[in-house]
Amino acid sequence: MKSGDEIKCQFCAKDAFAVKETLMDGWIKKGDILKCSACGAKLADIQQADALTKQAVSSEKLDKLASFLGTEKIVNKKLESDGEKAFCKDCKYYIKHPFINRCGLHTKEVNPMDDCEDFVTPSLELLTRINNLTLRQDK
Ligand SMILES: [Zn+2]
Repeated sequence: MKSGDEIKCQFCAKDAFAVKETLMDGWIKKGDILKCSACGAKLADIQQADALTKQAVSSEKLDKLASFLGTEKIVNKKLESDGEKAFCKDCKYYIKHPFINRCGLHTKEVNPMDDCEDFVTPSLELLTRINNLTLRQDK
């Protein structure tokens, strides 16, 4: 069955024509259907158009997702490379405190974004220990 075909409608039982109608969801084309020209009942989906539209939409979504993920990857990489810089905030000796951030090595006040010749990358274990220490100091 295609648009313009003479039909005997299974709903109203009249001799009518199949009329193509495009279903829209806002601005997105959802697909084409064939309607009875007499009663307007839906006779059939035009499957191919429907499937193609869905495919186009989903690949568009995938593209968006991919570009989004790509962006995120770049952001992550940027953060990682920032971490490689010798900021005091990333240093083993950096002691976080609500008011004064201290350097445990030089025993002085430091800013998180300071850099230091004696920068040491902390291990996760040390970070945890420092955090626990900071937490205990807070109490
Ligand atoms: Zn009908």
